Amino acid sequence: MIPETLGGLALAAGLLGLCVGSFLNVVIHRLPRMMENDWRAQCAELRGEEHAPAETLSLAQPRSRCPSCGHQITALENIPLVSYLLILRGKCSGCGTAISARYPIVEALTGLLSAYAAWHFGPTAQAAGALLLIWALVALSGIDLDTQLLPDSITLPLLWLGLAFNLWATYCDLSSAVIGAMAGYLALWSVFWLFKLATGKEGMGYGDFKLLAALGAWLGWQMLPAVILLSSVVGAAVGITLIAAARHGRNIPIPFGPYLAAAGAIALFWGQRITSTYLGMIA
Ligand SMILES: [Zn+2]
Repeated sequence: MIPETLGGLALAAGLLGLCVGSFLNVVIHRLPRMMENDWRAQCAELRGEEHAPAETLSLAQPRSRCPSCGHQITALENIPLVSYLLILRGKCSGCGTAISARYPIVEALTGLLSAYAAWHFGPTAQAAGALLLIWALVALSGIDLDTQLLPDSITLPLLWLGLAFNLWATYCDLSSAVIGAMAGYLALWSVFWLFKLATGKEGMGYGDFKLLAALGAWLGWQMLPAVILLSSVVGAAVGITLIAAARHGRNIPIPFGPYLAAAGAIALFWGQRITSTYLGMIA
């Protein structure tokens, strides 16, 4: 493919990614609150009580507001990156409270990764799937960092979507994908129980098993050792840095989801090269 066309495709995917990133901010902020509302409603129902939710919340309703003053975000203030950097300059136009830098960071990250996916895969089904996988991984990482949860409502559809793409061997053949899903879950499930039997502590959550199962379904079982290794290396490096900087106690759980997600994205783009290099080193 000629570079100009590929560049145009990457630019279009990048702009789409910025807008999706803006929506992912809403997902990261609201999905855990929606789940909590749900749990409260179920508990109330079990106790036979009336449950009146304080707010009806969905991904579409109500419109975004400033958490400090309730100022409703206007369309002009809702342009990805541009609004934060040029129009609002990091502050609410109603009350002047600083807006978290996480919003533009999520938008920029999603935009850059989307542009790279289009550049890397070109106009293929692989690129379309890569966009969906990346968007899900960004949302999961944000939610896990905030709440130490990886919602089933994202991990389970992600697993099925990976199997569906591989019906046509988009990233690997179907049997590698099915084995990948099972092996991904079992691998972390075994680590979890060994760790729990040895130390009495729970080192990770069931959401982590489901996320690795989903990555196995997308990338095939052959990619799982690389994903586990990459996530452990990145996780250990960040964990040691945090402990050394004394910003993090040794016993405060560090969410594992973002590292799995990062390793999954690396394996999506460069996994073939990584695995053939280390298989070459063994042989
Ligand atoms: Zn405000």
